[in-house]
Amino acid sequence: MGRFAPSPTGAMHLGNARTALLAWLHSRALGGRHLLRFEDLDVGRVRPWAYDVTRRDLEWLGLDWDQEYIQKERQGLYVRAVSRLPTYPCTCTRKEVLAAVQASAGAPHHAEAVYPGTCRAGQADPARPAATRWAAPAETVCVTDTLTGETLCQSLPADVGDFVLRRNDGVYAYHLAVVVDDAESGVTDVLRGADLWTATPRQVALQRALGVPTPCYLHVPLMTDYRGERLAKRGGAPPVQALREGGQAPERVLSALARSLPWPEFQAVPDEVRAPDLLPLWRALLDRAPVRPT
Ligand code: GLU
Ligand code: ZN
Repeated sequence: MGRFAPSPTGAMHLGNARTALLAWLHSRALGGRHLLRFEDLDVGRVRPWAYDVTRRDLEWLGLDWDQEYIQKERQGLYVRAVSRLPTYPCTCTRKEVLAAVQASAGAPHHAEAVYPGTCRAGQADPARPAATRWAAPAETVCVTDTLTGETLCQSLPADVGDFVLRRNDGVYAYHLAVVVDDAESGVTDVLRGADLWTATPRQVALQRALGVPTPCYLHVPLMTDYRGERLAKRGGAPPVQALREGGQAPERVLSALARSLPWPEFQAVPDEVRAPDLLPLWRALLDRAPVRPT
């Protein structure tokens, strides 16, 4: 089972569509089922129209799916998972975390502040709304990407810290929900954007703590514009919806998406293709991947 897991925070742009295409190709190349999961827990960022636009964009591109759900309706699963983990309440503000990081002899090379465990010993302020943090084990977690063969190791205490599982406004964190849902749905292969590669060790750590299997991970390059900057929903990247409603042929869009990939297999695709036409090319790419997908 593979999946595409968009956040319905805006219209899909070409970069999202390229990741969706690769996720679909991978599920189908493995002969497996494909799940569409809307990651809509962060209610403040959700645009209600984005669900339907995304479904129509995917259908237009011929990227079908066998199962669909939205995270908002699965709160009970996240409640149960958090109750099985060692956690503690935390009332630190972002400012307080940064101050604590600077005050400690902490490693200044981290771009992202590592929570120094201030509230681990029960220091949370009972007068403030509390987030729930995972009391993460003192372990180093390594993951190897199936597609690139790259290995990434992160020390939970030094590189990650006790991260938030449930925000102080009650919203369950992405890292928790994604692990719970992938496990519950029997996802064996996660193909997603390279921006999530550095989040993978902490997700694998959660899988181990919850006693669920770790899927194969394949991270694919994000699409960039002519300046080399990644496409973003907020950055004015062309929405697929505009191409669809503007009368573009989906076969031409798929061809352009395929040719934009950095792998030689995809450079010679014809001007018009359908998604299944690309399956042999994806299989050829997997054949020379450093790790055999299982
Ligand atoms: N919802 C995430 C995103 O749109 C993807 C999560 C994942 O694939 O693990 O960036
Ligand atoms: Zn705290």
